[in-house]
Amino acid sequence: MPQSNVPTPWLDPIFETLKQNYQNSRFAHALLFTGSTGLGKFKLALRSAKYLLCDNKQSNGSCGNCHACNLFDAQNHLDFHLLQSENNKAIGIEQVRSLINTLNERPHLGDNKVVVIKDVQLLSTAAANALLKTLEEPQGNSYLILLSRTHHQLMPTLYSRVQHTHLHSPNDKQLTSWLEQQGVAVTDKGVLRQFQNCPLILLNHLKALQKGEATDERRNCVEGLFTLLNQAESLFDFSQFLGKEVESRLQLLFFMLHDLHKLKLTGQGLNDDAVYFFALPQLQIWSEQITLKSLRYLNSELLKTRALLVEHSGLKKELLISALLIKIKKEFKEQAVC
Ligand SMILES: [Zn+2]
Repeated sequence: MPQSNVPTPWLDPIFETLKQNYQNSRFAHALLFTGSTGLGKFKLALRSAKYLLCDNKQSNGSCGNCHACNLFDAQNHLDFHLLQSENNKAIGIEQVRSLINTLNERPHLGDNKVVVIKDVQLLSTAAANALLKTLEEPQGNSYLILLSRTHHQLMPTLYSRVQHTHLHSPNDKQLTSWLEQQGVAVTDKGVLRQFQNCPLILLNHLKALQKGEATDERRNCVEGLFTLLNQAESLFDFSQFLGKEVESRLQLLFFMLHDLHKLKLTGQGLNDDAVYFFALPQLQIWSEQITLKSLRYLNSELLKTRALLVEHSGLKKELLISALLIKIKKEFKEQAVC
């Protein structure tokens, strides 16, 4: 796994609390970690699992040297189980049943057994129901660590049986200095907002930019809107670009409308941490060409389109995105005529 040794200092206080709970015999048998992608939920789960399995626990965590730690590092510890979805499909009841059977056995090595379930919102209803009893009365020294972006999609019966910790992103200062330690410099703060301060995603993105393996998609969005507004037959390219990564790219377009809205509302420029601060001159021109009312309307149309596309993957993507782009073009055009 890439970045396996990258430190995650913003999660240290949470790990510290978990460790203290264990030392005081108050470690919950069923934990839920939520937080955005790129915050390190899985890393925290692995760190906790390794600690629970370590034979020689130290005051600062697992020892890193014992037999259990070595097996864990080699991804070979028999008392560690990872349950995850394949290709984003539902996690079925068979997978959960076989997990429960394993948990009913005695630990192979030490005292504890640990299960990590990634994307727990993908458990089918039957699978989640099958898990309830295990969550309520875990067998012996079994620990379950569940991961999800938010807790809102979980069944209340499941949610009520776990101890929930929500992970927060580090602030700009912490994040910038951490990124520098990892060898990447932040040249504009807008990129932090673009990825909502999620360190691991930012690190990947900035490294890829550095190596020339990725492009700054914010620039593609500015160019896309520019072409859309200035060329007659220009819908297709921008619509295709947005459609390829619909969730993140419509989010980028949302940020642009949001920055335009802010610019228009305050009339005083943008803060240097705005996602599109780097394109301020162009945004200033656009903000002259559209009303607040139109921006609010387009914002809400964009969010509607995005929600539809994210929730129902079967819909005609290009059609919905094109419809949105036509609305954007129309709102700007009508203002220009007045
Ligand atoms: Zn150890």
